[in-house]
Amino acid sequence: MPELPEVETVTKALADCLPQQQIARITAFAPRMRYPLTPLQSPSLVGQTIVDVRRRGRYIIIELRQQHALLLHLGMSGSLRVVEQHAERRLHEHLVIDFADGMSLRFCCPRRFGFIIPVMLTAAGGEPPELAALGVEPLSPEFTPAYLYQATRHRARKIKELLMDNHIVVGIGNIYANEALFRAKINPFKAASKLTRRDCGQLVNSAKTVLEQAIAAGGTTIADYRRVDGSEGKFVSQLLIYGRAGQACPQCASVIIRKKSGGRSSYYCPLCQK
Ligand SMILES: [Zn+2]
Repeated sequence: MPELPEVETVTKALADCLPQQQIARITAFAPRMRYPLTPLQSPSLVGQTIVDVRRRGRYIIIELRQQHALLLHLGMSGSLRVVEQHAERRLHEHLVIDFADGMSLRFCCPRRFGFIIPVMLTAAGGEPPELAALGVEPLSPEFTPAYLYQATRHRARKIKELLMDNHIVVGIGNIYANEALFRAKINPFKAASKLTRRDCGQLVNSAKTVLEQAIAAGGTTIADYRRVDGSEGKFVSQLLIYGRAGQACPQCASVIIRKKSGGRSSYYCPLCQK
C-alpha cells in the first residue's frame, strides 16, 4: 500500500503538471471504485480549473476554484499517470480526466480500493472536513518527541500499531513503521506506554529520517506502486529490515525475525530491538 513517501512522490509530480489545467471531460469506465464514480460526472466540474495539488497524509487534494476540490486516495494499489489523450487506455484505468490542452489524467486501480470524490474545502488552500480527524504530519514541526511521548501515555497498544494510527500521525504504514522502529532500536511489540522520553526522541528522529530518505528515492516499489511517469520507487534497496526475514541484521548479524500480527508482518532484530 502506498505510504507517505509514495503519495508525496506522486503528488509532487502532479503538482508539476496539473495546476492551470482546465477540465474538459471526466469519464468513468466503472460504476465505482471504493465509492461510486457518478458524482464526478456532474456537469459542474467541466470547465473547472485546477489551482493546486497537495498532499495530506495519504490523501491527494486537487484544488479547483472557489473551494471546490477532488479528494483522491490510491487505496491498496492505485496509480496515476498523465498522458496525451490519444494514448490507449490501459486495463483498470477506471477514471479518465481529460484537459483542454489535450492531456489526460488516468487513475488505474485494479483492486478498486482507491477513490476520487468531489469535496468542498473549509477555506481556499485548506482541507475538506473529511480529513478533520487526521493526526499530525510526521515531517512537520508538530511531530516532536514531546508529542509522541504524550500520545503514548496510558496506551496499552503496541508501539508499531500506534505509529501506524492516522489519528496520531499520518502516512506511516507497515514498511516505514518497521524501518523507523529498527533504526530507533525499539521492539515493534513493546507497549507504547513503556516508551521513555529518549525512546520517543529516537523514534521521531528515525521516522523523519527514513521518510525523507524514501521521498528522496521516489518511494518504495514492492509490487504495484509506480511513479506518475511509470517508473519504480528506488527506496527498496535501502530497506534495512522490512522484507528481510531470515537475513542477517545489518547492525549485529543476528537473524531477522518476521512475526505476523493483525494481518501485517513485523520484521525486527531480536538483539537490537529487545
Ligand atoms: Zn541486530
